Amino acid sequence: MQDCLFCKIIKKEIPAEIAYEDEQVLVFKDINPMAPVHLIIIPKKHIPALADMDEKDTFLMGQIQLTAARLAVKMGLAEEGFRLVNNCGRDAQQTVMHIHYHLLAGRPLNWPPG
Ligand code: 5GP
Ligand code: ZN
Repeated sequence: MQDCLFCKIIKKEIPAEIAYEDEQVLVFKDINPMAPVHLIIIPKKHIPALADMDEKDTFLMGQIQLTAARLAVKMGLAEEGFRLVNNCGRDAQQTVMHIHYHLLAGRPLNWPPG
């Protein structure tokens, strides 16, 4: 997708602090962190939002969760805890229309988020 910000990060047309990358998945630091640890986890396939997910994306989205879990464990976050968040659509304040999960950690995280 030509005009997608996260596709541009995938293509390295826009710089980002990359924390993990493989054939299907990219993880980078959020430019405006909401917690001491704030990573964005995306599939390299352009899917606009969680509501657009298709059955054929099931394995890919599983890889997203597995990547988040492995990174969290590797970074020593599992004991204190962390949060994996997907914002879908306007009311959830999704601002970038390329499906992504936020990995947040490093401080107590309020619930409900408001
Ligand atoms: P959303 O609100 O769509 O769930 O989250 C989008 C996230 O992308 C926001 O937390 C925002 O700070 C982050 N973001 C927006 N533009 C950029 C950028 O150019 N680089 C990086 N690294 N993060 C970005
Ligand atoms: Zn995209």
